[in-house]
Amino acid sequence: MKAVDIIIKKRDHQLLTRDEIEYFVKGYTAGEIPDYQAAAWAMAVQLNGMTEQETTDLTLAMAHSGEILDLSHAVSIAVDKHSTGGVGDKTTLVVEPTVAACGLAVGKMSGRGLGFSGGTLDKMEAIPGYRTNLSTEEFISQLAQYQLVLTGQSADLAPADGKLYALRDVTGTVPSIPLIASSIMSKKIAGGAQAIVLDVKVGKGAFMETEMEARKLAELMVAIARLSGREAVGLLSDMNQPLGNAVGNALELKEALATLQGQGPQDFYEHCMQVASHMLVLGKTAPNLAEGRRMAEAALTDGAALAKFRTLVDIQGGDVRYVDEPALLPLAQIIADIPAPQSGYLSEINAREIGEASVDLGAGRAKKGEAIDPAVGLIIYHKVGDYVEKGQPLFAVHANTPARFDQAKVRVLSAHHFTTTPVKALPLFYGVVA
Ligand code: URA
Repeated sequence: MKAVDIIIKKRDHQLLTRDEIEYFVKGYTAGEIPDYQAAAWAMAVQLNGMTEQETTDLTLAMAHSGEILDLSHAVSIAVDKHSTGGVGDKTTLVVEPTVAACGLAVGKMSGRGLGFSGGTLDKMEAIPGYRTNLSTEEFISQLAQYQLVLTGQSADLAPADGKLYALRDVTGTVPSIPLIASSIMSKKIAGGAQAIVLDVKVGKGAFMETEMEARKLAELMVAIARLSGREAVGLLSDMNQPLGNAVGNALELKEALATLQGQGPQDFYEHCMQVASHMLVLGKTAPNLAEGRRMAEAALTDGAALAKFRTLVDIQGGDVRYVDEPALLPLAQIIADIPAPQSGYLSEINAREIGEASVDLGAGRAKKGEAIDPAVGLIIYHKVGDYVEKGQPLFAVHANTPARFDQAKVRVLSAHHFTTTPVKALPLFYGVVA
């Protein structure tokens, strides 16, 4: 077999066999196939696509390029969730302890924020001492003992994906739906997941800006799960405006803690309850979505979900005083409300602009590995469709320098659009793919 023949086949719209895909992935991971051939192949895939079967073969080849976690001794069914990323998306912080409180074990490997999109690890690290670098052995033993883990992805999971993603990033091949689907699913499968809730975000603050693209991605990932003997359900959820009110690490953590105590924003609460219900059904802990929801709501009401979150922080070395007293969490030096410049209905609150403004404040990173400031961020007080009076607080900026405060104020003001005629609220979900 020769790499060039595999590239030519994809260039000429022919189907690749499993052997060819495995040969290519193995050769590239081992350094035997050079970057220039992998780049040509990725571009052929970008332009000509892949079938569900080809994408599944690619996913499994990438998953098998490193260790595949076997969680069968730790849990009866390994259920995971994945969000394609967005602004203010702190769902894992609420959903994981909630489903764990309902009796469903969850071991989760999460990522850091990059660009306008936030990351779960950065939010958890706002708690001093919280460890996000558990070894595989620690991951499995903690999952078996406490039914709850929330850590970073270990380097040896799906190494082919890491290498290919870096190449895609500089060759214009990130937006390929088969390459995105296989990249996400290879990491989930390598992490041992047997059933996955895929929270596929749609809109201005998401990878997939249109419902059609998001649906395609969700359908492909659900097909990969099916063809590889796993189960998945895809939720298409809105990311045109931020989820909840808080954007920024410590601020989002505080909002998640409030939600765990039944005091979170309505949209975020509803989002979490829907994701949790699907996880409970996939994990065979609830017989149906209605019962899953009842269980998840009860876990919030009776304090069991918050207690689980506290346990998670404790076992991973975090200082639980920050859970008991969120006011201890880092606070920015300059905090001020910005008033609405006019009266009217909010027709748009551009999530991407708000995510970028929070990166400008220091809450996110433009490049991998950059340090972030846990204290800074934004509180967006309203939702699309709200009527706001001129002078009423529109949002709050939490900044650590006057220059960054001013910059964020201008950017977030221009992310808010007003009209004089009533505007419909945005839906939270656009559909479910199963
Ligand atoms: N997230 C991933 O893990 N991979 C992609 O290709 C895109 C988003």
